[in-house]
Amino acid sequence: MTRRVGVVGLGLIGGSFALAMKARGARVCGLSRSPQTTALAKQLGAVDDDRPAALGECDLIFIAVPARATGAAMAQVSGLRRSSAVVMDGGSVKESVAALARENFGDGAGRFVPCHPVAGAEKSGIAAARADLFAGRDVVLCPAESDADAADVARAAWRETGARVADMDAVEHDRVFALISHLPHLLSYALVNQIDGQSPPVRELALRHAAGGFRDFTRIAGSHPEMWRDICLENRANLLSAVSGYRAALDALESAIRASDGPALFEKFDAARSLRNAWAEKFEDARR
Ligand code: NAD
Repeated sequence: MTRRVGVVGLGLIGGSFALAMKARGARVCGLSRSPQTTALAKQLGAVDDDRPAALGECDLIFIAVPARATGAAMAQVSGLRRSSAVVMDGGSVKESVAALARENFGDGAGRFVPCHPVAGAEKSGIAAARADLFAGRDVVLCPAESDADAADVARAAWRETGARVADMDAVEHDRVFALISHLPHLLSYALVNQIDGQSPPVRELALRHAAGGFRDFTRIAGSHPEMWRDICLENRANLLSAVSGYRAALDALESAIRASDGPALFEKFDAARSLRNAWAEKFEDARR
């Protein structure tokens, strides 16, 4: 019998999962909040069925909406799903979703598996979805409160998309991703805001001459504001602590510049370059 997979939220992540599952022969029921998105998802071949009731026929349901819409999406799924169905989310903050799952699924919360596909782009929406988005990328699972068989179903589905799967503690996940993903997005938005706040002639001149450094540092400021607003607020404590740490690092550089302390600046830059290059060699180049 054809496997049935449900997807709630047909944007970049949900749409890409739907396309990957379709490529593996599944029949996909997809729900979105806008009829235009649903129509485009059908046109792109990501979705077969858009009736909410069809979620009740699915063995696996993936919720891929902005963090602050996850509770409402869980409530919708909870009223429609069969009790044995495995439900996963794809949000970038993990500690808070376990509590949401308990609230919305009650005794059935063990069927829920918190997941974070560490894949994506600054593009958003179904039009940017790709069947191979997760191929060769990591997907982190935080299954501490999930039934063992539900976690196995989630792992198997992600592996079918070509992803590598790793388990992580949710608290540790949120602390680490604040440092390596949420803080960089915040800094990138802040840098662009700072340029936007210059006087009109300086702003225009700066934008006119902005090149590689600006492009690399601000690529992620092209990301969806609703999604990043939600992530920053959901991971508030960890993000604030990462901001404090960054401010201290920036203060140290500022002091060295004020004191015209070339050796101190060199030492900081050299240490950063060594770690950045070692990371690229060990992890980034290996992914290519
Ligand atoms: P997106 O903006 O491309 O898509 C989100 C979709 O959810 C949109 O189609 C929106 O209309 C829909 N939506 C919002 N509220 C809804 C609701 N209540 N019911 C049904 N649909 C609803 O965003 P995305 O990039 O696909 O992100 C989805 C989730 O995946 C977010 O939680 C995000 O944090 C997470 N994530 C994103 C990335 C990335 O790089 N884009 C990476 C990993 C995880």
